[in-house]
Amino acid sequence: MQISENAVVSMHYTLTDDQGQQLDSSIGQEPLVFLSGAQNIIDGLDKAIQGKVAGDKLNVEVAPADGYGEVHQELIQKVPHENFQGVDDIQVGMQFMAQTPGGQQPVTVIGVEEDGVMLDGNHPLAGKTLNFDVEIVDVREALAEELEHGHVHGEGGHHH
Ligand code: ZN
Repeated sequence: MQISENAVVSMHYTLTDDQGQQLDSSIGQEPLVFLSGAQNIIDGLDKAIQGKVAGDKLNVEVAPADGYGEVHQELIQKVPHENFQGVDDIQVGMQFMAQTPGGQQPVTVIGVEEDGVMLDGNHPLAGKTLNFDVEIVDVREALAEELEHGHVHGEGGHHH
């Protein structure tokens, strides 16, 4: 069957950035299983696979707007070292949960300076054009219960 909204899709993918650096891949592991049209994966990729069938291979380029969004400079800020009491060794790449007016938000340490720690609240893939090499492995109808929950059950999905 063809992929449409509410189809359960199994696919292998390799994600690279514009510099050709591999960021993520399902190769050598179980394929990614998700419910199409239910915001289980980023919009740009979900749209590109509509109408595809098992065995199809495609390359999808996803602009930041259809991926993880643009980089927002206001989410990058320097905070005093005192805010990290109890953390022995702050290093670039560490992630913390920060309290913001909008609730808890993950932030990444992007710099450690004498007068403070640079934190970035953007998604690590924000502002990046994403290149997906995709192979559709399987397409099936979703169960009523899966549609109700908005995610896939069973192998590769939720068990509950
Ligand atoms: Zn469920």
